[in-house]
Amino acid sequence: MHTEVETVIIGSGICGLSIAHFMSKQKKDFVLLESKSQIGGIIQTNISDQFICEYGPNTVLLNNDAIKELIKDLGMWEMLIYPEDYSNQNRYVLVNNELEKIPLRFFDFLRSAILSKKAKFRIFLEFFVKKHSKNTTVYDFVCKRFGKEFHDKLIEPFITGVYAGDTKNMSAKHSLKILWNLEQKHGSVLKGLIKSKRSKKEKVHSFNFPMGLGQLITTMSKSLETKIRTEKKVIDIVKKTDGFLIKTENETFFCKKVVSTVPSFVLKDIVFDDSFSKEMAKVTYNPIDVFHFGFHKKNIKKMKKGFGVLTKPSDKKSFLGVLFNSQIFTHVSSSDTELFTILVGGERQKELCQLESEKLEGIVLKELEELISHEGEVLLKEHYRWKKGIPQYDMNQENLIQQINSFEKENPGFFVLGNYFNGVSVSDAVMKGKNLVDKL
Ligand SMILES: Cc1cc2nc3c(=O)[nH]c(=O)nc-3n(C[C@H](O)[C@H](O)[C@H](O)COP(=O)(O)OP(=O)(O)OC[C@H]3O[C@@H](n4cnc5c(N)ncnc54)[C@H](O)[C@@H]3O)c2cc1C
Repeated sequence: MHTEVETVIIGSGICGLSIAHFMSKQKKDFVLLESKSQIGGIIQTNISDQFICEYGPNTVLLNNDAIKELIKDLGMWEMLIYPEDYSNQNRYVLVNNELEKIPLRFFDFLRSAILSKKAKFRIFLEFFVKKHSKNTTVYDFVCKRFGKEFHDKLIEPFITGVYAGDTKNMSAKHSLKILWNLEQKHGSVLKGLIKSKRSKKEKVHSFNFPMGLGQLITTMSKSLETKIRTEKKVIDIVKKTDGFLIKTENETFFCKKVVSTVPSFVLKDIVFDDSFSKEMAKVTYNPIDVFHFGFHKKNIKKMKKGFGVLTKPSDKKSFLGVLFNSQIFTHVSSSDTELFTILVGGERQKELCQLESEKLEGIVLKELEELISHEGEVLLKEHYRWKKGIPQYDMNQENLIQQINSFEKENPGFFVLGNYFNGVSVSDAVMKGKNLVDKL
């Protein structure tokens, strides 16, 4: 016996949930299958004592109409919590083991100790560098346009913060989309930046919710309750002449349309096309370990206001970055405590993600305490390990997107979405979901 339904969505991360939301709005017939007992995928909030901890994303960008529509539809617009202004303006890198603010304004930039005089001068030569005629790595793109020092001290930490990747393997066109497009359109990134500043764009906010991002998932689960089927791990997809059979461990569904939102390393094992499966297997994911620590404010001697700090390889730290959570969103801890998130791993620190949890925790806690000069009781210690955390947008991206497009053409009714191409962020996932439903 098969359960018949028009569309099956596989995976209940924010991408699958967004598709479900917009389909539900259009009164479409669908079911959403999730292998685990809980929904939300990478978005996971844990409230422990007085601390609100995110194991996945901490902030989401309000940068497209789809994410705005979703939040308004759910009646959550008034609940949005925006980061404190000072946190957005104060982001740090390390210079001689001390926090140094990344300059955001032109004159601050000239005064900043992050780059040498020579490196600052080199940046202005960018106006005269010829634009790329074909895609290249992030490393080559930035070094050619702005110089190696700019890459090493600013871009490398930034890329680490978003993708936890290696700039020498990553595609400039897909990982530095904005800079790449400015270069392609204006012949120079700086020229492009000046022109786009003049056209005064609306300020883009990021947000969280009073009970963390998990609140978004809980609200979506309530509105989609009857359509979500948890503990339904898809183990095989079979193509039929008039649709698809979606096999789970204990139930089979027949549908005209199927949308995969699972990671590529899952899709490769359940899809019926061997050569497409091989393409999916080529996507690499980097591990990320997420630690949360809570301290009494009074025990911290060197606290700086701000968003957090990103490291570069020469800093020789065991973490990629630290988020000052309770400085970004004051509601995530009580007024006399501070909450920090430490991110470890990525391409640079893969081997650290093999260490036992307790051992790694000891290492990063010590480094954090030295950085902020903390002594005394540790109120909170939390650890979550993402073995395959962040997909890498490497030089195969262009080919991957082509393969996905051809696969969809050869298999009408099969749609492939996910965070491993065309945008890794939560708001990208919502937008991709909305675009798909509009297309359907
Ligand atoms: C540590 C970390 C921090 C991040 N920080 C940010 C941030 O601050 N801001 C931001 O915008 N983005 C951030 N991201 C990225 C963003 O969170 C993710 O890209 C996004 O949440 C992915 O959503 P998704 O729906 O595409 O995939 P997922 O969330 O991975 O969902 C896929 C779902 O499919 C299910 N599934 C798997 N196999 C099967 C199967 N066989 N059958 C049925 N279901 C299956 C999984 O259980 C899961 O629920 C972060 C990511 C990580 C890992």
